[in-house]
Order: sequence, then structure tokens, then C-alpha cells
Amino acid sequence: MAATQKSDKPVVLITGASAGIGDAIARRFAAAGWNIVGVARRKERLEALKESLAGTAEVAICVGDVTDPQVPVAAVKTAMDSFGRLDALVNNAGSGKWGFAHETDDATLDEVIDTSFKAPFRFAREAIPAMTDGGAIVNIGSTFGLVGGAGGGAYCAVKAGMVGLTQSLAADYGLQGIRTNLVAPGVIRTDMTDAVWEAAPFRRLNHEMTPMNREGTVSDVANLVYFLASDEGSYINGQSIALDGGWTTTK
Ligand code: NDP
Repeated sequence: MAATQKSDKPVVLITGASAGIGDAIARRFAAAGWNIVGVARRKERLEALKESLAGTAEVAICVGDVTDPQVPVAAVKTAMDSFGRLDALVNNAGSGKWGFAHETDDATLDEVIDTSFKAPFRFAREAIPAMTDGGAIVNIGSTFGLVGGAGGGAYCAVKAGMVGLTQSLAADYGLQGIRTNLVAPGVIRTDMTDAVWEAAPFRRLNHEMTPMNREGTVSDVANLVYFLASDEGSYINGQSIALDGGWTTTK
């Protein structure tokens, strides 16, 4: 399909837009007047997002598994076919699998690396040439990628790798007007954390030890992601910012 007329509105491509933090990021950009390309495996959740934003933003859907190398290619093509431009990429989809190294099998190790490192790398690789008027990449890391975390194993290692990816992209593409930053959330209540929320050590370590004495919200994350991607963050490049109510300061 040939590229349509270039959208008047800026366009953001968000991986993992079907739930949790990614869904909130999509709604934040839509409220600010952007059009959206949403990527995830659950088609019905993406269609629900599209329907609920009708009248506010156009949402183009790319259904697929981000670990499939063809999906980043298809997602950027969706942006260009639907809107004729790409202004921002949010690498949000991630695997929540974690555990001690001695308990981590190869399938788990591969899933975490493929979802939270290879996929963001490939999405950036495909998105950068499409950002012909400059742009912004925001990677969603984790506080556990900044300061580590007991029992975090592959998850911590891969999220730390995203910090390096952020710095590398910032250095290499800043001259093209493409800024890259990372948001490192602490504990945010989503499907990912609800699965373990009632476990007492999890709550104690990640909630009650936070100086703010609360968990973060998906809106907390979405607001910072939007700030970094928008012109309001126009001189911020290569930074990894903890969004954790001060939790890392207690480490
Ligand atoms: P959720 O489990 O609520 O949502 C995960 C999203 O990622 C879904 O939209 C899911 O879509 C998508 N996704 C996951 N794997 C794939 C895949 N292989 N292919 C395509 N899409 C995929 O998680 P959160 O919103 O909590 O997490 C979002 C990001 O924030 C992750 O990178 C996570 O590591 C990070 N984070 C979260 C924290 C928290 O406390 N919640 C703290 C720190 C970081 P679908 O299932 O439809 O494919």
C-alpha cells in the first residue's frame, strides 16, 4: 500500500499498547493530539483501545509478537502506510519473567532477552530511518535495571542492557535530531504486578519501603514518557530516569 497523505498530527508507535503501562501511554499521547500505532499480540485489546480513542486520535493496529523479527518491520510499515510519518517510538512491551539464575532455564532466558532486548533494538533499527524530521525513542526499563534486584536474574540484566542501548542510540542519532531516553519505573500496579501483589515480601520490599509509601500508577509512567518524547524534553538525550517514588534512593 502506498503511503497516505502525511498526517498533520505527530505519530507514536507503542509496543505493548494492549494493556497496563502501554495502554496508558497511548491514551496520554492521544490526549496530547498524537496519532497512534499500537503493537501487541491481543488483537481484541488493541481494537478496544482504537474504539475507545475514536474521535480523539486515529489508532492503527499491528498485531504480532514483538520477538518475531518481521513485526518491527510491519509496525513501521503500518505507521507509514497509515500516517505517512513516524515521530516517536516507545519500546514498552516486556517479559515479566524473572527468578534466580540457577532456576532460569534457556527458554525463559531467551524469552526475556528476545522480548526486552532484541525487540527494542529491532524496533529502533526500523524506526530510525522513518524519523526523517527527527524524533524520539523512549525505552521502558526498570529500577531493577539501574540498581539490580534480588532474584531478578535475566530481567535485571536485560533491563540494564536497555540502559546501554539508550546511551548508544542517543550518541549515534542525536545529530539527526533523534533523542533516546529510558524511563525506569518502580512498582506500578498492572497485570504484571497484580500476579504477585499479595505476596508479602513483594509488597513490603516494593511498596512500604518506597519513601512515597505507595506504588506508582500507569499515569505516572505515561506522563514522563510523553514529556521525554515531546518538545518539552527537547534537550534530554541518553538519560535513564527512575520513576519510583524514591525507592532507589533507599538502596
Ligand atoms: P503488562 O503485563 O500489563 O502489559 C504488557 C504489555 O506488553 C501488553 O500489552 C502485552 O501485550 C505486551 N507484550 C508482552 N510480551 C509481548 C510480546 N512478546 N509481543 C507483543 N507484545 C507483548 O505489563 P506492564 O504494563 O506492567 O509492563 C510494561 C513494561 O513496563 C514492561 O517492559 C515491564 O518490564 C516494564 N515495567 C513494569 C513495571 C511494573 O511494575 N508494572 C515496573 C518496571 C518496568 P499482549 O499480551 O497483547 O501481547
